[in-house]
Amino acid sequence: MAQPRVIYEAKPGSPLDIDRALYTRLGQETGGRRLVDRFVIPMRSGAAWPVRAGQLFRIVAVEGPQVGDLNVWNLANPRERFWASRTRQLHRAHLTTFDRLWSCLPYLRPMVTITADSIQYGRDQDGAGCHDLLGTRCDPYVHKLLNGEEFDRCCHSNLVRAVAPCHLTELDVHDVLNVFQVTGLTADGRYFVKPSPARAGDVLEFFAEIDVLCAMSVCPHGDLSVPVWGPAAGDASAVCRPLGVEIWQPDPALLAGWTPPAPSDYRGQHGMRAG
Ligand SMILES: [Zn+2]
Repeated sequence: MAQPRVIYEAKPGSPLDIDRALYTRLGQETGGRRLVDRFVIPMRSGAAWPVRAGQLFRIVAVEGPQVGDLNVWNLANPRERFWASRTRQLHRAHLTTFDRLWSCLPYLRPMVTITADSIQYGRDQDGAGCHDLLGTRCDPYVHKLLNGEEFDRCCHSNLVRAVAPCHLTELDVHDVLNVFQVTGLTADGRYFVKPSPARAGDVLEFFAEIDVLCAMSVCPHGDLSVPVWGPAAGDASAVCRPLGVEIWQPDPALLAGWTPPAPSDYRGQHGMRAG
């Protein structure tokens, strides 16, 4: 049988080959930071917020285990948005420090880079990892399909409500990074979850490479310790908690050597000629 082979391998010097010293400084040398904004997203709701290029933002498990579903757009152009499946191929199925969230075509550039992950879950004996890119957000359509119920607080709906004031719609909401969510695949390839391992104070921190609009849903299924669908489905309201967001301006000296990434410079026009 053939051996597995990692396929998305870059040549040295590519944007996948990141300056670890720079991002380690940004994540660890916190003394010169200035707080820009801090707020709490209540349980079973969503919020959207801008982050300027060169700033950091943190998702905080303020009261204990809780899953959050994150979307990211270019603040100036919402057609450029986070591409979860390509990010999964370029990095891994569960993100951690030094991994980046890449944008969709025709842009394909890092939008944010993870600078701190207090969970450091690694891979467990079932092959599961934390901060999931295997799955996507819960939505009311799949909820109706599986449970036969109308439910308006799914992550998809929380994200739709969160971005409505930004003049974005349901069609702008896209596949998410499931923050603080542990997932994997069973031996026969089925998607599974485990309860969130986050404890009060755990953080996942990002550095904004470009101006971005972020939106996050605080999942109505809480820490995922109660089955959501199927015969054992239960009420998760007792395991729902809020999530915090913090935006920080790092010490400008830490940004030495950093420049915002440009969109892809591919100009091939897919082999088509104009005219
Ligand atoms: Zn959800």
